[in-house]
Amino acid sequence: MAAVKEFSVQEKLVSICTLQKIDSKIDEINKLRGELPIEVKDLEDEIEGFNTRISHIDGEIAVIDEDIQKKLTLQAEARDLLKKYEKQQNNVKNSREFEAINKEMELQELEIKACDKKIKDANEEKVELDEQKVATQAIIAEKEEILKMKQKELKKISEETEKEESDLLKKREVAAGAVESRLLASYNKIRGNYRNGLAVVPVERDSCGGCFNVIPPQRQSDIRLRKKMIACEHCGRVLIDNELSDSINV
Ligand SMILES: [Zn+2]
Repeated sequence: MAAVKEFSVQEKLVSICTLQKIDSKIDEINKLRGELPIEVKDLEDEIEGFNTRISHIDGEIAVIDEDIQKKLTLQAEARDLLKKYEKQQNNVKNSREFEAINKEMELQELEIKACDKKIKDANEEKVELDEQKVATQAIIAEKEEILKMKQKELKKISEETEKEESDLLKKREVAAGAVESRLLASYNKIRGNYRNGLAVVPVERDSCGGCFNVIPPQRQSDIRLRKKMIACEHCGRVLIDNELSDSINV
């Protein structure tokens, strides 16, 4: 049977505190970068949305332009007809014919007026759409400026932390290997329970460094003695004395 290494409480505390310090540093790097990729992605999506809005506006303007052209053609046709009828009116044989032509002319005049009104409305609509487009373009320019900044920031952080992170991950492997397996399992479990990823905390100002509940003096001196593992009664985190915590640097 292979000999199982016996760990002293002191060794256990040192090993688990070392692991915690490495993990906290890795957490910090992830936190630094963690929000930036999401922010960059959100901005990219937003800009894409605004660009889609602009192409919709362009589409609407194109439809209106086409409509205006149609109305102008209709108007030109009506004017040609008017001229034709004017000539015809000069050569009418009787008043009935004159009246008939007059009615036709009135109809064409109405058509010309109706086209005028529709062209005017369409142009007003175009002005409104142009305003919307300019406003949207301004928003895009603003967002792109922020995006550029965030992308630069993210790139910088990634470059700066890449080496540090890979060093820490290597250190973590060694540190985790030095922790007794049952202790490692409970460490991982406690760490997973808390958003700040703290499973091992020092006693700070007579309180648990994780949940800030007060630790009675007797318990504090037990912690300082390092004769047994002591967990916080409130949050379950492993408690260590400040001196030990300060002595471990990763
Ligand atoms: Zn606690």
